[in-house]
Amino acid sequence: MAEEESEEKEYRWETGYEKTWEAIKEDDHGLLEASVADIIHNAKRKRQLERKQGARLGMMRHLYIILDASESMSNQDLKPTRFLCSLKLLEDFIEEFFYQNPISQLGVIITRNKRAEKVSDLAGNSKKHVKELQTLQQTVVGGEPSLQNSLELATKLLKLLPSHASKEILVIMGALTTCDPGDINETIRNMKLDGIRCSVIGLAAELYICKRMANLTGGEHSVALDDKHYKEQLNAHIDPPPAATRLDAALVKMGFPHHALHSSAPDTSMSVCMCHAQYSDETVKLMTTGYLCPQCLSKHCELPVECRACGLTLVSAPHLARSYHYLFPVEPFKETASESDHSFCFGCQKIFAQNDKKVYTCGKCNQTFCLDCEIFIHEILHTCPGCAINPETYKKSIDKS
Ligand SMILES: [Zn+2]
Ligand SMILES: [Zn+2]
Ligand SMILES: [Zn+2]
Ligand SMILES: [Zn+2]
Repeated sequence: MAEEESEEKEYRWETGYEKTWEAIKEDDHGLLEASVADIIHNAKRKRQLERKQGARLGMMRHLYIILDASESMSNQDLKPTRFLCSLKLLEDFIEEFFYQNPISQLGVIITRNKRAEKVSDLAGNSKKHVKELQTLQQTVVGGEPSLQNSLELATKLLKLLPSHASKEILVIMGALTTCDPGDINETIRNMKLDGIRCSVIGLAAELYICKRMANLTGGEHSVALDDKHYKEQLNAHIDPPPAATRLDAALVKMGFPHHALHSSAPDTSMSVCMCHAQYSDETVKLMTTGYLCPQCLSKHCELPVECRACGLTLVSAPHLARSYHYLFPVEPFKETASESDHSFCFGCQKIFAQNDKKVYTCGKCNQTFCLDCEIFIHEILHTCPGCAINPETYKKSIDKS
């Protein structure tokens, strides 16, 4: 039990809360909006500062979501029920996950009546998962969940993946009990050996076994306070996690297929795409368009996808470019009071007025930005406009990274 002693002995009620109600102050017009925005902004900045530059990240993620579908998920503390609220939030989560992690894969497992059921296989396309989740809305939740059975199922499916893949499980647990056929410590030990990271989001309370499992496998554990907080907890799993030390750095063979319209005549014959050929419903259409695998010339209608015929990962270059910013994030800007010599924002050309109490300066190009631009640069743009238009500093920032 030596491992347990190194765990931080910390509960939410011991340190946890930021005293947000003390930070809220009315502005000159008696409004609260400004200080609420301040709190959100401060939280975002804190997250930025925590992000380390040059850290190795697990970019090729394989994530299994284990969703509790037991009796306790019909509880109405989240509206309309815990289960329906989870499904709705997961839909958004899956869309966002694939947008930010285009070469990753995801699968869903639910657990009820002491059993684990696989809802969807590991796949890199959000549409299929979202469709499965929508059909789940009609299912009946009931019985007790089995944490061990679902973990075993996920482990079995993740085990066969190559060693460079980041293997993750995210458990959403509403129940306070689990009904297991064996020793769950054995399962946790196996997960640790296989390098699987297991995170838990609790909906009711903190469970000792969940916390212990997250700590031992390097995952995160949190308990949702309400639906907004729940969404935030899910969003924390969108950014790729730091790579485990045992993750191999391997080169992965990838194909960049051209759209079939642009290729030579014999390839563009009418054919059914590989990804839809297995379904015998009306969605199967003969098409001339599609992406051809550069290795085996089989046709797929969407990217990114793993070639059904030869197993090559097919991507388009913009998919890779989308995950680039995680590797070279913009450094946090210096926060200063606005009585400096800068009179307008470099980003939007707004003239700094009385209500801009803080301005933000880039450490590399020394340009000053307003709060809105600072947030936009770090959250969406992922490159500093001041550095980007100056060829010298831009080159320097590239060389450094
Ligand atoms: Zn298709
Ligand atoms: Zn192929
Ligand atoms: Zn601005
Ligand atoms: Zn800059």
